[in-house]
Amino acid sequence: MPVHLLDSYNRSIQYLRVSITDLCNLRCIYCRPPEGLQLISHDEILRYEEILTIIEIFRDLGVRKIRITGGEPLVRRGVLEFLSQLVAMDGIEDVGLTTNGVLLAPMARDLKAAGLNRVNVSLDSMRRETFKDVTGSDKLDQVLEGIKAALAVGFNPVKVNVVLLEGVNEQDVAEFARLTINQPLYVRFIERMPFGSDPAPRSPESFSAHRVLEIIKNEVGQLKSVDREPLDGPATMFSLEGATGRIGIIDPVTGHFCGTCNRMRLTARGTLRPCLLGPQEIDVKSVLRRGASRKELEQLVISAVLSKPIGHSARPDRLSEGMNVIGG
Ligand code: SAM
Repeated sequence: MPVHLLDSYNRSIQYLRVSITDLCNLRCIYCRPPEGLQLISHDEILRYEEILTIIEIFRDLGVRKIRITGGEPLVRRGVLEFLSQLVAMDGIEDVGLTTNGVLLAPMARDLKAAGLNRVNVSLDSMRRETFKDVTGSDKLDQVLEGIKAALAVGFNPVKVNVVLLEGVNEQDVAEFARLTINQPLYVRFIERMPFGSDPAPRSPESFSAHRVLEIIKNEVGQLKSVDREPLDGPATMFSLEGATGRIGIIDPVTGHFCGTCNRMRLTARGTLRPCLLGPQEIDVKSVLRRGASRKELEQLVISAVLSKPIGHSARPDRLSEGMNVIGG
């Protein structure tokens, strides 16, 4: 009989996002708390076998979909072997990866061979200078090569995530939308979420996902709504007339989709995070490392799921830490 992991508000938890490292090869201006990055010592990061144990507990409780993220997951040594083990795990039906794409071109074939089902690439501008300003690196070409390679080895669709940054990438919107015309790319525009108690000094505010739709309608063409697929998550999906790909908007700031939230997060340092925007974390690493039984770990996961809040608040809360730690 299928098992369902339900939270206190009857939401079925079907999805676990796992950050496997807090390290990243880019320094995006919006992806860290105002006080800067505090890297975690190697020993505090969950080992791959610990991550697999925690995933098994979720699997036994009914979770079938896993997304690997970071930091930048492709910088962690041994990631391919880890992914192969994860994909081979009985009962796991879908494994996706979110990457900044810098190392994707040389790894795309091996990722496909490891059995990865889906890949999402984060890219906020296709203009070299803006890319450099946002990420602190001149690596746009690697990312574009990475997207090409992912398509070439047969990932279909490849999703491209664009964070909306006021005064920075409004003029990229139309070009990103055009990418969907002839390629199986799903471009998803995501409102930037604020951090900490003060705005990060160098981080621009978001512009609204609805403005994206206006820009596309004015500069590219009419959009029609398309039904959300099970793996579209919180995105509202559209397509341009006759296009191969799709366009999505994700509006954590102006929209409210907590009611359908079906996910939990495991951070690189071994805590469970029931809500991205809430401060609460449950330490699973120390429990695991003191030799807890499966039963105990299962109870811990269940209580973490039951503590999932109904929503982050009517007004969007602020992220208490950088996404490099939480895992975006
Ligand atoms: N390094 C990988 C990457 O770039 O995709 C995975 C980790 S990154 C934290 C995951 C996603 O979180 C990226 O798409 C990134 O743009 C997004 N992200 C980070 N900080 C954000 C913020 N403040 N608001 C919205 N999205 C954010």
